[in-house]
Amino acid sequence: MTPCHDSPSSVLIIGAGWAGLSAAVTLAQQKIPVTVLEAALHPGGRARGLEMNGVRVDNGQHLLIGAYEATLAMLHTLGMDERKALLRMPLDLTMRSPRQEGINLASLYLPAPLNLAFGLLRTSGIPWPERFAALVGLARLMRWHSPQDLPVTTLLRHHKIPTRLIEGIFNPLCLAALNTHPDMASGQLFATVLQASFSQRRRHSDLLIPRLDLSAMFVDPARRFIEQQGGRLLTRARVRALDYQAERGYRVVLDDGEFSAPQVILATPAHITQSLCAGLPALQTWATKLKHLDDEPICTVYLRYPEKTRMTPTFIGMLETTGQWLFDRRLTGTPGVMAVVISASGAHLHLDNSALIKQIKAELSLFYPDWPEPLDAFVIREKRATFRASVGCERFRPSHQMPLPGLWLAGDYIQTGLPGTLEGAVLSGLQCAKSIVNSKNS
Ligand SMILES: Cc1cc2nc3c(=O)[nH]c(=O)nc-3n(C[C@H](O)[C@H](O)[C@H](O)COP(=O)(O)OP(=O)(O)OC[C@H]3O[C@@H](n4cnc5c(N)ncnc54)[C@H](O)[C@@H]3O)c2cc1C
Repeated sequence: MTPCHDSPSSVLIIGAGWAGLSAAVTLAQQKIPVTVLEAALHPGGRARGLEMNGVRVDNGQHLLIGAYEATLAMLHTLGMDERKALLRMPLDLTMRSPRQEGINLASLYLPAPLNLAFGLLRTSGIPWPERFAALVGLARLMRWHSPQDLPVTTLLRHHKIPTRLIEGIFNPLCLAALNTHPDMASGQLFATVLQASFSQRRRHSDLLIPRLDLSAMFVDPARRFIEQQGGRLLTRARVRALDYQAERGYRVVLDDGEFSAPQVILATPAHITQSLCAGLPALQTWATKLKHLDDEPICTVYLRYPEKTRMTPTFIGMLETTGQWLFDRRLTGTPGVMAVVISASGAHLHLDNSALIKQIKAELSLFYPDWPEPLDAFVIREKRATFRASVGCERFRPSHQMPLPGLWLAGDYIQTGLPGTLEGAVLSGLQCAKSIVNSKNS
């Protein structure tokens, strides 16, 4: 690859995850020339479809909620019909335990927050006095704001949420939403997620399950859109270094060439961004802040059963087991394929893949004793699935505006007010695109 000097108005985007792609789509829509450089063979980053053992899966089972307004608007921009891309259903959590009665929390068809309030009152598996206590506690939690962060466990106890509900509903929700154990997870972020889901519109608490793999749902349409608008997305284009000169702008160095542009969006994960910024003296102090953001893994165990194997409901929460959530991928076009999600760190990380599969198979046979032996099983481990949303982490999350002109930051870890999610990634890309458009118009 030879040196490539992009036009003075162009924007280079490093990283084609959902953050980089959202920025590129928004800029391309405004007729601003974009070039996206992606290190991997396929775009999509931490949310993409792939083929394993001849089965189409995702790098990890994803779930969206109705409050993901930026993501839904982005799908609309790409011409995706929401009903074809996602199954939307009112919140309905079936939490099952192999040892005791499970819990079911289903929201009702009422305006928020009554949908949750009455849903809570109807929660099965919880004695009536505890349901009332939970209702009072949750009503206070919905209004809770504090400059002082505290662990989710403390927050829930402080609001007198009954232990059975904490263990059966809120701890699993915290793990799913923040990918961090409740005893260290940020109460502020958890309260924000609850408030965004339950205190505004009823549809915000809906669950949205992908009907397509994540590349077919978003990544491929985003790439098509960018290219149709005259932009470029180059894969196998790993950026090795970045430098800046006031008169020339940014020089982006790859293994076999370089690019230059006046504006660059760094849409790489935090640890990569940190190392790319190491070559820019003006950013060295700034970049050390990112060191304080830790990562948490997510492990997905896929099991392929005969096609007629199915479960109702489409997904369940698993209590007191290594597996935390179980999804029937029939909905995603692969009948018989089940995905078991294990968020955050835990003892399972010490098991190799075959031991983990054995453990998960044994757990599933407790819930579904009639299922036959799976025909195949494999594990996808994402070691850096999201940043650890621990108490006080907000102060280490950077803004999308960097201390150098024309350099922007996108990614689920920047200051969006959300945990590491698809919606956070999309919002971060939109923030960058909006600032660039504004800077060009001013
Ligand atoms: C298993 C799993 C399950 C999840 N479940 C959910 C869920 O249910 N709901 C939800 O909302 N969120 C979920 N998430 C989180 C969500 O996937 C992420 O928040 C989101 O995908 C992050 O997107 P991003 O663009 O910020 O980062 P990334 O996806 O990491 O994108 C960064 C891109 O930069 C590229 N790159 C890195 N280095 C370079 C370089 N030097 N040069 C060029 N390119 C480079 C990478 O290859 C990558 O494509 C899950 C994540 C995982 C891993």
